[in-house]
Amino acid sequence: DSDRDLLLSRIRDVPDWPEPGVVFKDITPLLRDPAALDTTIELLGAVGGDEVDVVVGIEARGFILGAPVAHRLGAGFVPIRKAGKLPWQTASASYALEYGEATIEVHVDAFQPGERVLIVDDVLATGGTVRATVDLVRGAGADVVGVGILMELGFLGGRAKLPDVNVQSLLLV
Ligand code: 5GP
Repeated sequence: DSDRDLLLSRIRDVPDWPEPGVVFKDITPLLRDPAALDTTIELLGAVGGDEVDVVVGIEARGFILGAPVAHRLGAGFVPIRKAGKLPWQTASASYALEYGEATIEVHVDAFQPGERVLIVDDVLATGGTVRATVDLVRGAGADVVGVGILMELGFLGGRAKLPDVNVQSLLLV
């Protein structure tokens, strides 16, 4: 539809970045366009349904999208960050990358048990980042009511790692 066409037209393919063979999806043109940004925030906010207590944004572009979604829903915002960036006590989760491992962290007091959490990120690629995020949120006793993704790279199969999660992508390529 026309919303989808607008968003798609504002995402730029950058070949061979950050390394040869990768085509990076650059969302900065979308962020720069007021109509595309507004549509994105509205549609991502709809993923969680009526009662979202907390929006979780994943570093770094998940912060840009997640905070306005939280504000729109009247929810709070919680950042999930790469290891070593959060100042207070943290819980962490690690996951495999193509080469090596990544670790993400969240503050131990970020959630109350039973809180309804919407996770937001820009791109779903292999799914490792969202998988680890879901596990962190659930490990804290909160409920993941949805994962809102701007663009899913379907050919990477990330969704297969998330059979137990309500993942909704605005764009599927
Ligand atoms: P995954 O863990 O699903 O392989 O990778 C997803 C994470 O890497 C997300 O946090 C996302 O921001 C980032 N990412 C991976 N590929 C791309 C891309 O092509 N474009 C953008 N904007 N982010 C990407």
